[in-house]
Amino acid sequence: MSILDSRPSRTELSELGEFGLIDRLTTDIQPSLSSTIKGIGDDAAVLDYGGKLILITKDLLNEGVHFDLSYTPLRHLGYKAAVVNFSDIYAMNGQPRQMVVGISVSNRFSVEALEEFYDGLKMACNKYGVDLVGGDTTSSRGGFFISITVIGEVERDKVVYRSGARPNDLICVSGDLGAAYMGLLVLEREKKAFLANPAVQPELEGNDYVLERQLKPEARRDVIRLLNDAGIVPTSMIDISDGLASELLHICKQSGTGCAVYEEKIPIDPATLLLCEEFKIIPSIAALNGGEDYELLFTVPLSEYEKIKGLPGISVIGHITEASEGKYLITNDRKQIPLQAQGWNHMRS
Ligand code: ADP
Ligand code: MG
Repeated sequence: MSILDSRPSRTELSELGEFGLIDRLTTDIQPSLSSTIKGIGDDAAVLDYGGKLILITKDLLNEGVHFDLSYTPLRHLGYKAAVVNFSDIYAMNGQPRQMVVGISVSNRFSVEALEEFYDGLKMACNKYGVDLVGGDTTSSRGGFFISITVIGEVERDKVVYRSGARPNDLICVSGDLGAAYMGLLVLEREKKAFLANPAVQPELEGNDYVLERQLKPEARRDVIRLLNDAGIVPTSMIDISDGLASELLHICKQSGTGCAVYEEKIPIDPATLLLCEEFKIIPSIAALNGGEDYELLFTVPLSEYEKIKGLPGISVIGHITEASEGKYLITNDRKQIPLQAQGWNHMRS
């Protein structure tokens, strides 16, 4: 046998994509401790040390992949890096409490630049009532890497998983979708124009809403409070980081259901609609596949309809079906299209 024969076969990352890779790496990882209530597979892990349940989530951001410093102010980056983690805790119906921050930086960055990044982190922590309690700092050969872990808590009877949706449940979403993606397109367009001709000033005016949604998103703590005050515990919930389609598929996969969502019901802001026209993008595509909205997608029993329809800023966009009925978008002209996840499955080409 030559050494070539024993060489293990090689699978390209692009063949699996992000979610395929996570599945492959974690298939045989099973929690063995009774304190691990939920391991891999939700917006946050759920741990039980008596009393309230502990939630833990982590996000990793890489320069050039997740953010572009040519148009992202470091203060905004710090804010966003924190908020996207809080969003995962709210998606479990919990409250974020502590944060641990790992950074890896090259000497291209000044101390003052990193202080700006920290100003953003601190601003987010102040606003959301989170303590920054530790981290780790290393040098990098190039680029800026940010790894943030957030710990949260939730009352035992209030935790919400991706897996609890049942046929006939209403599918609800907070706020509006697609704006963060259009903000990104505006920034990318102005960057290109600037690189082509540095004398040209970027045209960002009038796009405040979508730019803010991209550069300085908020996590929906207010929605969690609203639902709680209304006495509603969702049957399932997830935050929208990868786009509505991808998140709906996660809920359906984990709940063992199908779904039907209506294009006409997907909430889209007028500013997003205008930009979609300009960029010749179908608005529902921006909402379904754009991502980074950090809105909450959740399901409630049909019996909660009266309560839900009275809540400001919440849209009912469809319902959960039996798995055998499939997962469909019903378009404005009444066509049924199978839902597909594009999302930020950025390991695929
Ligand atoms: P989100 O978009 O909500 O942050 P992800 O899609 O990143 O969720 O992750 C899905 C699930 O897979 C989560 O439970 C997460 O903790 C887990 N996960 C992601 N990457 C890894 C990894 N490298 N090893 C183990 N678990 C992972
Ligand atoms: Mg999430």
